[in-house]
Amino acid sequence: MSGLGSARAPLECYGNSFEFVNRYGLRIDRRPYDWDGYKHLVEPYQDDHPMQVHMAGAQTGKTGRQLAFLTRMMIKHWGALFGYFFPDLHLPGAYSNARFAPFILENEVLKPWLGKNMADGKGLDRTLARTFGSTTVFFLTIGGKTSTEGIPMKGCLFDEVRRMTYHQIQLAEERYSAQSDPIDFKVSTAKYPNSDIDLFFQRGDQRYFHTACGCGEGVVLSLTAPDCILDLRKADTRLMRRVKHAFHEAGRPFLNLVGEDQKKYADSLAAYWCPKCGEILPDPREGWWEPHAPDKWVHSYQHPQMLSPTYPASRVLQKIDRPTEPVSVEEIFNSVFGRAYLDPEKQPVQDEHLAACVDYNLHWPALMSERWRKRYVHNTALGMDAQAGYNCVVIKQMAPNGKHRTIHIEIAHDSTGGMDPWKRVARLMYLFDVRIAVIDCMPHWNEAHRFAMLFKGRVYLANYVDSEGGQMVSWKDTGKKPDQKGEETRFKWSVAIQRTKGLKWSLDRWVKRFNEVPSPTGLLQRLPVKEGKVMLTSGLRVGQWEQVPVCRDVYFPHQKAVAFSDKYEEDEEKKAEGKKKIVAEHVGLDPHFAHANLYADVALARIGRPRLGGER
Ligand SMILES: [Zn+2]
Repeated sequence: MSGLGSARAPLECYGNSFEFVNRYGLRIDRRPYDWDGYKHLVEPYQDDHPMQVHMAGAQTGKTGRQLAFLTRMMIKHWGALFGYFFPDLHLPGAYSNARFAPFILENEVLKPWLGKNMADGKGLDRTLARTFGSTTVFFLTIGGKTSTEGIPMKGCLFDEVRRMTYHQIQLAEERYSAQSDPIDFKVSTAKYPNSDIDLFFQRGDQRYFHTACGCGEGVVLSLTAPDCILDLRKADTRLMRRVKHAFHEAGRPFLNLVGEDQKKYADSLAAYWCPKCGEILPDPREGWWEPHAPDKWVHSYQHPQMLSPTYPASRVLQKIDRPTEPVSVEEIFNSVFGRAYLDPEKQPVQDEHLAACVDYNLHWPALMSERWRKRYVHNTALGMDAQAGYNCVVIKQMAPNGKHRTIHIEIAHDSTGGMDPWKRVARLMYLFDVRIAVIDCMPHWNEAHRFAMLFKGRVYLANYVDSEGGQMVSWKDTGKKPDQKGEETRFKWSVAIQRTKGLKWSLDRWVKRFNEVPSPTGLLQRLPVKEGKVMLTSGLRVGQWEQVPVCRDVYFPHQKAVAFSDKYEEDEEKKAEGKKKIVAEHVGLDPHFAHANLYADVALARIGRPRLGGER
């Protein structure tokens, strides 16, 4: 099989998705595409660029856009292979069956080609691999192991990018690396700034929709929200008359509220307006798309929910001011404004905290002589996060001032002197005189267990627990309840750590300056790099190997990549009461070194402060 589509398709693909949808009379959810209601989407559909990013609020016509794009590409690149990636295990099947297949089967012209292969007459019509004529699309879970690994593809589509990590996406994109003109289509609701979908949006030409108003440049509702919502609840008769006049002139119902909506939003009357020139905007979809970074190659679009005809301003005001169900600021930004948002309070570690913990007088022991290490490096603590083909290691030592001093950072991997990552970690145990190591036992339980047996009483297997009550850290070998049922079967040298509390405690140490670290550019390691970022993909297979200051480029960014957001309880009853719980979330990348750092802190806290007259 080849990822290249070469044969000429017996079906017409037309010049762009807009034409494609109209010529075939395609329908979405059994209804024709509504170009009158969604006239602002005509231009994105007419965009034939092979690399697109769509950062969208909820209900912004996302599915229709993806299906039209994918189907058209399957015809345009007849005989090619495509990968369609989702974050969850159940999503690929659900999308393939409930969205993709019905979309094709509802059209009499396209229908016969689903599950039909031109070459041998045997097509695939399995849920996760479907052929359309001689083109194949695989519906895949990102980061999942599949039999399709290594098969080159013409292009990749990504759905709900905000729940994928940067590294997972980079690995998936390797599939089309052999193509000269690959297809890449990314879609997602917004989440955190400068990570996930927002990162890809920023790297594109950043097309925002400008609603026409009295200002020459128009007004971007999503960038001026919530100021672009004119609250009419206490409007005087003069303002009310002006608003009524504007809607009348535009030939639209007052505030775009019809039928049930008039009652539903009666207590939150509002209109869109330009906060700059004061013009009332009865039709926010009257305007144009404008790239804010026109020099960038990728076309990226920002779609706020406010442009949807189903989202009159009164509905937004109600959501902000009088929500009928609990709603967070994040949700309003992400779903309604279609913008990335992170409350700075929720991301504890900032650059200035890390910088404040640097002490340029300290040394990285790896750069010193063995004699020096023998003299100064004793009873250290090692934390390790195990990954596929490499282990993220942090080694710390208690400083005389009581701070946790980071003395070594390493991504232990296969090519470290031809040893497997575990052998390298064993070597580090010796080189740095590690007293206690806390290592993560998943997903490699067997290796971790074997490693712990090798260093009996020095290596502890960590597992995270979700419970919030009780102790943050419980060591199994010092527990007081040995006669509890099931306890004996548990591995003695293990430690349970409350995930959220533990991460908060460990990361707060940076903020409070309870940590210290030598020059962040001092310690170098050869690591795979792509687009200026160290690539921690499975087996470290992606990227060019080069010398990297591992503290500055990997360890520090990982400390910043954890946010604590308060989420409403999933339990419906608790949610109705507005109960929240705090959860630690990864921002943009998998911060393996935030976890390894926590493990090292836990280990070091157990060792405690050095005492005169020998160790404890
Ligand atoms: Zn204006």
